[in-house]
Amino acid sequence: MRSRIVRAAARPTKQAPATNFTGTVFQDEVFAPEAPSRLRASKVTFTPGARTNWHTHAVGQVLHVLAGVGRYQLEGEPVQVLLPGDTVVIPPKARHWHGGGPDSMMTHLALSETSETGEATTWLEPVSDADYRKAPTRPD
Ligand code: MN
Repeated sequence: MRSRIVRAAARPTKQAPATNFTGTVFQDEVFAPEAPSRLRASKVTFTPGARTNWHTHAVGQVLHVLAGVGRYQLEGEPVQVLLPGDTVVIPPKARHWHGGGPDSMMTHLALSETSETGEATTWLEPVSDADYRKAPTRPD
């Protein structure tokens, strides 16, 4: 790992793959793991209705909402509304999804680490429209 400033222009926005996401999702890499760090950080923008598939993270994930109104669900719990400034803490190996609102964009910073053995994200099935549309719990 060497000192440097990585300029935004050096990293064009990518569209997230349809194999792991529903709808249109844009990803801007912030940092990819470089030894000895195992941190991965990316800025992700979900268009209205777009979301991740169900998935797990080997050593968990932290999401920090930068803009918009989004959704998050940990399996077995109600869908939650996400608002700018909110931080979501997701435990290791917990099935969950995150995305935009039905009528709203949402941008979050996604922070995760690979495990000591190099495991990161395990992608599962898409979130059904029925699951996505369940009435969310309002923030406190
Ligand atoms: Mn996640």
